[in-house]
Amino acid sequence: MEIEGKASLRVHNVRLIDGVGSRAVPDAVLDADADGVIVYAGPASHAPPAPRGVRTIDGRGGTLLPGFFDCHVHLGMSSDRSVVEEALMTDPVLRMLQTADRLRRTLDSGVTSARDLGALPAGFRHAVASGLVQGPRLQVSVGIISHTGGHADTTLPGGMDLGFDFCALADDVPEVRKAVRRMLRAGADVIKICTTGGMNSAGDDPDDEDLLEEEIAAAVDEARRHRGRPVAAHAQGRAGVLAAIRGGVRSVEHGFGIDDQGCDLLGEHGAFLVPTLATVFRPLDRSRMPPWAYEKKRRWNEITKENIAAAIERQVNIAAGTDAGISAHGGNLAELRHLVELGMSPMDAIRAATSNSARLLGVEDRLGALRPGMLADLVVCAGDPLRDIGLLAEPEKIVVVAQQGVVRKLTPPAVDTVDHRPGPPPEAGAIAPAPSVASHLSRRSS
Ligand SMILES: [Zn+2]
Repeated sequence: MEIEGKASLRVHNVRLIDGVGSRAVPDAVLDADADGVIVYAGPASHAPPAPRGVRTIDGRGGTLLPGFFDCHVHLGMSSDRSVVEEALMTDPVLRMLQTADRLRRTLDSGVTSARDLGALPAGFRHAVASGLVQGPRLQVSVGIISHTGGHADTTLPGGMDLGFDFCALADDVPEVRKAVRRMLRAGADVIKICTTGGMNSAGDDPDDEDLLEEEIAAAVDEARRHRGRPVAAHAQGRAGVLAAIRGGVRSVEHGFGIDDQGCDLLGEHGAFLVPTLATVFRPLDRSRMPPWAYEKKRRWNEITKENIAAAIERQVNIAAGTDAGISAHGGNLAELRHLVELGMSPMDAIRAATSNSARLLGVEDRLGALRPGMLADLVVCAGDPLRDIGLLAEPEKIVVVAQQGVVRKLTPPAVDTVDHRPGPPPEAGAIAPAPSVASHLSRRSS
């Protein structure tokens, strides 16, 4: 999840939501040092003087939040073309550039860290980390593992196998271990397995079970043996949800059929639920879907809303993920609105998509909260998302995005200035005079 580049930064004239606490700070300041590490985040009245040479952002009364996480994306997939069209009808160079564009749009939507769960080569993680392309910090699964005829089997109903290199089939314990090793060789940070069928696979159903519990446990063990990597399970129907948790996965993806027993088991195992509501709330367009996919979605969407609302009421451990690639790219924070629509408080939805998602990805020691010692990955939203959580879903309302103090996006009404006062920096411990407005070079773009 590393990214090259870091900078000092000050953000002021904002309401602060730090991603951990239960209350917002109404008039706040955040300071990050030259390493992009937060040194102050709190009330403006207690803020230290601005250091010399710092870039300062006036948030114009907006809300400062941690950079958001999307724990379930498919950046290598287009949401508006079928996988067949994507795989067979699209030039590979164009596909790569389209993926880079989706990375940029995801970052601009306020997502500074993402976990890709299939169809994104690990090279994109390196490309983002080295600054070659701009996008969220990445963890990737590279591929998806299922059994023959399961969710990752790309054989079409007509018999043709699309043969996607990111899909691996495994039908017993040794094959599962070997499939995991292939993903690790390809650079996987997390292993993605299927424990049920799915909506967009022709030959199976969300209630069909996929890998056996002993195969799930083998995948979990094989990943653990390699620097303790976690396993994420595509699990929709009830039986496969239970098998995934019992097998030891770190996260249940979708979990549409989760019941009280599943919620309790999730809690006992300390696992996470990533309900990918963006796919559930997406309006169904019969003309653009194969009839079998339409029927499955129609049958499952209402059941899902009831089950996930019940899981939210039971306060299960939820992290935010959209399944972008199936749902639309670049409006990722609509997921928070959907969580609120199913009963979560706006503050809990923000925490689900920041500090709790950071815990799922194992980076909670440096990301997901705006507190001293953490990296300054942050977002400024125009308005107050605690009053209207839907604001976060509109990319034009996300007026500032920064990673480790480096500004990636800045649009009105936010304004930035850079302190160009001459002379050496103050001695350690000395208090710098407050910068005067006249000494600032305005870089306002409007
Ligand atoms: Zn997915």
